[in-house]
Amino acid sequence: MQARPEDTFDQIFRDYGGRLQSDELESTSGMLDPPFIVSQLLHRARLVVHSFKSTYPHFFPKDIWIDIIRNPKFNAIATSRPDRDYVAFFSGMPIPLSYLFFDWLSHPDVLSDIGNAAVEKQQFTDLRTIPFWIPADEARREYCTKLLVHALDFIICHELQHLFLGHTDYLRVRFGHAEFPEIGMTRLQSLRPCDFRALEWDCDRAAIRTIYCTLRIDFEKGVHADTYATLDEALRGLMLSLSTVFSFMSFYESRLNSGCESTHPHPQTRCYLAATAVYEQALQDEDREGAEHIKNVFLSAHREAVSIWNGFRTCSFPIEYICCEDDIKQMYRDVIRLKKELKPYCRYCTDMPSDWRELIR
Ligand SMILES: [Zn+2]
Repeated sequence: MQARPEDTFDQIFRDYGGRLQSDELESTSGMLDPPFIVSQLLHRARLVVHSFKSTYPHFFPKDIWIDIIRNPKFNAIATSRPDRDYVAFFSGMPIPLSYLFFDWLSHPDVLSDIGNAAVEKQQFTDLRTIPFWIPADEARREYCTKLLVHALDFIICHELQHLFLGHTDYLRVRFGHAEFPEIGMTRLQSLRPCDFRALEWDCDRAAIRTIYCTLRIDFEKGVHADTYATLDEALRGLMLSLSTVFSFMSFYESRLNSGCESTHPHPQTRCYLAATAVYEQALQDEDREGAEHIKNVFLSAHREAVSIWNGFRTCSFPIEYICCEDDIKQMYRDVIRLKKELKPYCRYCTDMPSDWRELIR
């Protein structure tokens, strides 16, 4: 009899903590109930996969199973096995992110143009002991949910791209690595940090472009009408969320904090790269002025997120607004070089990044 995918999942990720059973999380009442948040993540992840599958069936030469790992770290892993692909999220990813967004919006000075911020009561917070604040204003609570959905969609799409873009197969065939782990894991000794970062950006770039296109189409259909009045506002929400995810990952990346080289680009660089990736995409649908405008909406939302983050004074290092042009140039060079090696493993033909000089202006 063939093993059930959830059992194989449990076996594959046993060293990381194994599969989380739905009844293992302690339940609390209200919107921050961990079992509810985790089930929402899985539901969302499966929706995203379903929509990819119906649009691009050739991205899925085999079945895929998505599940949660018991380990409460902030992390995710993609792995490709002969009969099935697997994407694993650690239980520590969706829950702290939810707490963070709810906590932020409970402060009257944070995103004060959203809903009625005057009714919010929070005056102090510390990320190391995240208190369970929930915004008093309903519109602000809804906004938190929207930020969380953007974050989860991005993380899901990013992990799927490790499979689609051939990273997992490339690492398996070239170096014998079974998985593509994100932050906080044992470093892949055979892969230089700059190559690891280039692969991460490869995924970010494809993920953000997909999400941007989906958001745009959804917006035109009126899907976001209840939360966002304009597409600019929707793009702002998306970038506020992404910038937070990138900073949050850095905050929790112990290797980075202890001075080791990072597996992912710096949060600033990732935000710039996200803005340039959207700009690249927008140039296909808009004139240059429209695309520039979209890029600027992204960068200004990123600045907003950085100022919120620093306002909470909880980081061990300040996240400064710096232009990381050299970093970006290097990333373009690395990814263009790696793309040639990835080609035989890639499940779809991706366009090469545009010339960075066009994008960083
Ligand atoms: Zn990744």
